[in-house]
Amino acid sequence: MADPVIIACPTCASLNRVPRDKLAGGGKCGRCHSILFGGHPVTLTAANFEAHATRSGIPLVIDFWASWCGPCRQMAPQFAAAAADLEPMVRLGKLDTEAEQAIAGRYGIRSIPTMALISEGREIARQSGAMPKSAIVGWVRKVLSAGG
Ligand code: ZN
Repeated sequence: MADPVIIACPTCASLNRVPRDKLAGGGKCGRCHSILFGGHPVTLTAANFEAHATRSGIPLVIDFWASWCGPCRQMAPQFAAAAADLEPMVRLGKLDTEAEQAIAGRYGIRSIPTMALISEGREIARQSGAMPKSAIVGWVRKVLSAGG
């Protein structure tokens, strides 16, 4: 039997154990019955951040953004479209740097948009500036294939 992977629910942040070969199979959360991979970025807050960043068994790509940032708003649909391409290899999440200043501070975010790739709670790559979907997808795949 394939090793189960811990997947944090995008809706309630409950931790679900999912067989690795069933990740792409439309599995649902055992608690709230939300689909675990709906192809949309998760809104990250202090309440669900640890579940997705450190307790989940798949990497997390964080889009640090703010509503006043024009390039961030331009990139939003590109980032959302990248979620559909990259799930369930990684989870994509959006962090509003105004609403969640403590988390943004912890990562030392100085310019936005900035994306950070987190694996097992550790930042393994960072990229600043708005990017189109194809570049976001390419960057994530390149980092993960290089890091093994
Ligand atoms: Zn749930």
